Amino acid sequence: MRAETLAIHAGNLYESATKDVTAPINLSTTFLRNAEGGYSGGHMYSRMSNPNRSALEQTLTVLEKGVDACAFSSGNTAGMAVFQALKPGSHIIAPDDMYWGLKKVLLTIFADTIEVDFIDLTDIELIGKHIKKNTVLIWTETPSNPLLKITDIRTVAQLAKSKGLILACDSTFASPSLQTPITLGADIVMHSSTKYIGGHSDVLGGVLVTAQQNEFWERIRNIQQTGGAVPSPFDCFLLSRSLKTLAYRMKGHCENGLALALYLQKHSRIAQVFYPGLPHHPGHAIAKAQMTGFGGMLSILVKGNADDARKVVNKVKLFAQATSLGGVESLVEHRASVEGPNTKTPQNLIRISAGLEHIDDLIADFEQALT
Ligand SMILES: *Cc1c(COP(=O)(O)O)cnc(C)c1O
Repeated sequence: MRAETLAIHAGNLYESATKDVTAPINLSTTFLRNAEGGYSGGHMYSRMSNPNRSALEQTLTVLEKGVDACAFSSGNTAGMAVFQALKPGSHIIAPDDMYWGLKKVLLTIFADTIEVDFIDLTDIELIGKHIKKNTVLIWTETPSNPLLKITDIRTVAQLAKSKGLILACDSTFASPSLQTPITLGADIVMHSSTKYIGGHSDVLGGVLVTAQQNEFWERIRNIQQTGGAVPSPFDCFLLSRSLKTLAYRMKGHCENGLALALYLQKHSRIAQVFYPGLPHHPGHAIAKAQMTGFGGMLSILVKGNADDARKVVNKVKLFAQATSLGGVESLVEHRASVEGPNTKTPQNLIRISAGLEHIDDLIADFEQALT
């Protein structure tokens, strides 16, 4: 079956006496044992597993074409579980424009235990040069945040395989609907489900999907079940519900993202537009080959400085000035001021998350803000 069908049916793992068509929310933290001491219902204690989380993990596994998934309470805890599963003293290679929150995880929480080189992952030779004796993992993020750089997953996967390294891919900007990194050779896919998977800016979550059942994945499962940074049954229910419309929401996000990019690129007050759907974008050909759409995220450079960019985000009315992305409502953000004084993000950059409002209203809002 195709993704649209699987998104709606793959999570139907329950059997109920009342014959519900959609899975109920199962709040019980503990489950009955049978006479032999076993758990015939398949669950023991809800930190370990519960029906709503299992349903969500099952749907994500099939949508990402993996073999198993772990849901976490945030995107950062999902990413952190991968780093926690590495042995101390490991070296990893990560993108120079890695999502700043996960970069912070590596530079603060893992500062004494994991070595990292942040480099440009669009340069495959550069990656090769940074592989050392203790390198165990390459972390990619594509499209990247906030410059929408595209990493060629297949090429990096070939390199990782030839050197015996694990390849992880933060696929948050693409969502499971626009790219499936496992089919391109990635070992682990990560999402902040707070973004497109949730899609309505009302639930925090993260997920990992694996291409293989192996010792590394067992370590991750143990971190999830024993550490317990898990989403609640209600959060899992919301995410499962959101996944059912993901493919159709992504079509709208892609359509609005492209239309905004085309409009803004022609505007005299805009110096540059970063959107992988534009033919001049350096990653356009790779994006076209590995994605089924270019997504709803774009960044623009306003002519001028930080103040000129801030004036624009203060003048839009329909776009909410807020961080995060992937919801039905459009957002704008002056990214450098969120990332702080050490950021490499240009000061005149505005990141845009194109929502699902009518495109004419979105363009009209930018038109008045840029005038
Ligand atoms: C938001 C985000 C994260 C972190 O996810 P949280 O749910 O906020 O913890 C990681 N990677 C990317 C690309 C993100 O956009």
